[in-house]
Amino acid sequence: YQTGNVNRVLTTCPHCATGCQFYLMVKDNKIVDVQPAEGPSNRGLLCVKGRFGSFNFVNSPDRLKHPLIRNRETGEFREASWDEALDLIAMKFGEIKERYGADSLAGFACSRSPNEDCYMLQKMVRCAFGTNNVDNCARVCHSATVAGLAMTLGSGAMTNPIGDITNDVDLIMLVGSNPEEAHPVIGMQIRQAVARGTHLIVVDPRKIRLAKDADIHIRLKPGTNVAFANGMINIIINEGLADEKFIRERTEGFEELKEIVKDYTPEKVAEICNIDVDQLCEAARMYAKAKKAPIIYCLGVTEHSSGTEGVMSLSNLAMVVGKIGKSGCGVNPLRGQNNVQGACDMGALPGDFPGYQKVTNERVVEKFEKAWNVKLSRKPGLHATDVFPAAVRKEIRGLFIFGEDPVVSDPDQGHVIKALESLDFLVLCDLFMTKTAKYADVILPGTSYAEKEGTFSNTERRVQRVRKAVTVEGEMRLDTDIFTDIMNRMGYPQPYLRADEIMDEIASLTPSFGGISHKRLDAGESLQWPCPDKNHPGTPILHTEKFARGLGLFYPAPYRESMELPDDDYPFILMTGRVLYHYNAMAMTGRTPGLVEKSGSSFIEINTEDALRLGISDGDSVKLTSRRGSVVSKARVGDKVSVGETWMPFHFSDAFANVLTNAVLDKFARIPEYKVCAIKIEKA
Ligand code: SF4
Repeated sequence: YQTGNVNRVLTTCPHCATGCQFYLMVKDNKIVDVQPAEGPSNRGLLCVKGRFGSFNFVNSPDRLKHPLIRNRETGEFREASWDEALDLIAMKFGEIKERYGADSLAGFACSRSPNEDCYMLQKMVRCAFGTNNVDNCARVCHSATVAGLAMTLGSGAMTNPIGDITNDVDLIMLVGSNPEEAHPVIGMQIRQAVARGTHLIVVDPRKIRLAKDADIHIRLKPGTNVAFANGMINIIINEGLADEKFIRERTEGFEELKEIVKDYTPEKVAEICNIDVDQLCEAARMYAKAKKAPIIYCLGVTEHSSGTEGVMSLSNLAMVVGKIGKSGCGVNPLRGQNNVQGACDMGALPGDFPGYQKVTNERVVEKFEKAWNVKLSRKPGLHATDVFPAAVRKEIRGLFIFGEDPVVSDPDQGHVIKALESLDFLVLCDLFMTKTAKYADVILPGTSYAEKEGTFSNTERRVQRVRKAVTVEGEMRLDTDIFTDIMNRMGYPQPYLRADEIMDEIASLTPSFGGISHKRLDAGESLQWPCPDKNHPGTPILHTEKFARGLGLFYPAPYRESMELPDDDYPFILMTGRVLYHYNAMAMTGRTPGLVEKSGSSFIEINTEDALRLGISDGDSVKLTSRRGSVVSKARVGDKVSVGETWMPFHFSDAFANVLTNAVLDKFARIPEYKVCAIKIEKA
């Protein structure tokens, strides 16, 4: 609605998956400000990214405004018409499909784009390309959550709403999560809860700010989460603190779990994790005895070669004490990007149609074949992290990347670049000339969240509206129309649908979204899936009567070391992560001068003792080298990290952390081990 000559448009933040609601203030087709709204997950709060980093990029003069085609010989891009660019894409992908088969093509969806975009992208890949090689960047952040929670509980999503786990709970156990930087509005709510008397256990190798206010900070060695959880369970069982009734009535596999965890004595776990044995015992007792005690976790659990087992260990822990399926409890992943939950829900996954319906289930495939009027592949596709090695081997020849910048965000940058250069044809659809875009044969200018209608699903499975606030100035097109253009040109004719019509199609094919529509959301309803029919109020808490898989499954996970540990040549552990002021590859936050002023270049945290030994002072330039490459960054000396450990953000182009990281993968979810690789440090 309108105040004076300024329009207020209620929408959802485009950065993290907290899903804060705010108003875009629009004057003369320009967004001039952001004002907080009373959304269910933010209750009038916003962080600095949402408040200040959500509109400069929309108005940015750097926006791609025309399709571009690259001359492979000179590397130069030239402007092209939409017809020329789209015809070229259809011809090249068509030739590759004809010559090498449909499985030589792949597509990545954008976890920053609405559900409706992600749905249409996976439809394009499945129906027009003819393959299940479709994925999204959950692969490199929370795919271990999707796999681990699905295997143990039957649903790969956060069990409880944000308000339910931060309001009126007795204890919060925060594992591998730094919400004050990565999910700041959730961080604020945790801090408020602690101020009201909620106990806090922080399990993190770094001395994050919330650790200073915690009752217990378990400063475990990076990569030892599974041993930690097994140790907690060992203590809980041996001290008679397990919820035997819950275990008996609601779970299976407890005997197998007991057999595994009996070896994880407090002393042995304290040694593996390099922590204090009494602290571990105290944490186990506090967690088991607290009535309402949610586990909240993030990428410190998932981004390991044992990431899925780390997630399953947390399910084991919550089930042993019966703290799941109840208010104020549960296992709660904080998903990364604003719509990474939605990108997964919409079937931008190689083994799942929308709503996690399996591509290997004949009945499901037949349903989609009938609805989409096409023959579909029954073969699960490649995970995004397997697409790059496959491109180097020439098994993937054509790739469509929608709104992702894997050169910056994926591990082992050198290998990613080699893979992109190996492709016969690369298409990008994006807002800006990203690092990845430079390798594209065709770049298509897409639209931002402020220029389209749709929905985002936040970390708590809440589907919220994204609303058009401004009209694009340039030749950019709606991304759903672009995908429809390509489908039409590749011989799979489709009508151009509005976002609300696309959501209706999603609802008709996806049982968990069956009752979700723009109409209900616009009428003010707030819906968390599963929402199976149009009278259903949505499901705030999962697994209340029974688990989505029937019985909760205890998965006996043994501790395994990280794949690349320090040695004489590379004596330090490197962890990577995000800072408060920026989001991932900085395509959006990097275009807000105030945010860049606050935080504009890379750094590496080094422990004071290590710095002294190496003759490094705070602010010195340091050369960081792993087995994959070198970068030069600035030392930030202190005690935030332990001796022998380091941490650096991955956003900054002056020293991309992912030049150093290791692309070794978790065996279940194929998630890379960003949180542990070995480096050496020299004064530059
Ligand atoms: Fe946006 Fe996340 Fe900040 Fe909320 S916490 S304003 S969703 S970046």
